[in-house]
Amino acid sequence: MCKVISITNQKGGVGKTTTAINLASGLAEMFQDVLLIDIDSQANATQGLGFNKKSVTCSIYEVIMGEIKVNKGVRSTNNGLLDIIPANVNLNGAKIELIDLDNREFRLKNVIEELKGSYKYIIIDSPPSLDLLTVNALTASDSTLVPIQCEYYALEGLGQLLNTLSKIRKNLNTVLEIEGILLTMHDKRTNLSFDVIDEVKKYFKGTVSDTIIPRNIRLAEAPSFGESIFEYAPYSSGAKAYRDLAKEFLDSNY
Ligand code: ATP
Ligand code: MG
Repeated sequence: MCKVISITNQKGGVGKTTTAINLASGLAEMFQDVLLIDIDSQANATQGLGFNKKSVTCSIYEVIMGEIKVNKGVRSTNNGLLDIIPANVNLNGAKIELIDLDNREFRLKNVIEELKGSYKYIIIDSPPSLDLLTVNALTASDSTLVPIQCEYYALEGLGQLLNTLSKIRKNLNTVLEIEGILLTMHDKRTNLSFDVIDEVKKYFKGTVSDTIIPRNIRLAEAPSFGESIFEYAPYSSGAKAYRDLAKEFLDSNY
């Protein structure tokens, strides 16, 4: 059985890509076969795993538009158990081009069906918007993991995301669940960060992950070396946190 998890939050810079890369890598470190799909035209996950977005010609764009076979889009990474379907800037056009196509919300789901036999987990990194690409990600997913940054306006915009999730459940994907709310960039030195944790836990009750990701400079540096945190700084607090998250995830999925 393969489980598909999208990382979503239409708010920018909350840690979606950092989580997509390091949860996917963490699961691969724990001997799981994992595929990461980058559906953000910024291609941050693609670059963060060492691919140059400018030289990627076979991306998820060509795959979902039906221009190339799925397998041509899949690339291996430094970690033998982690593959990626990269993004490139062509995805910018996809949100518009998809509108006129048949099955426009199901394009990614149909692609993923062909890959499920090869992986235990498929993780999708999505853009900071609720556009048709994110709708494709949610339609294709068993669950979604929502990173929330520990900052003053943490809960802002979440109502809109929850609304989108319930619409998707009603119309496109009845089984979609919330995998968890993940608090990111926690700063132990500020009271604010603790206040935000309390507030988010009150709002979401049992859905908040036990693991909280600390603010850690190594997590911000790793992508520029094209490495996951486990390659770049395996003993950092960031690596420990994402290892804990991968463990927590595996525990709750068995
Ligand atoms: P976007 O919405 O633009 O796709 P995002 O939600 O994917 O953004 P990231 O790119 O993961 O967010 O993170 C935003 C910035 O914060 C990046 O520069 C990243 O390196 C940095 N960052 C993310 N998590 C942490 C952390 N725990 N500690 C320190 N820096 C972090
Ligand atoms: Mg991102």
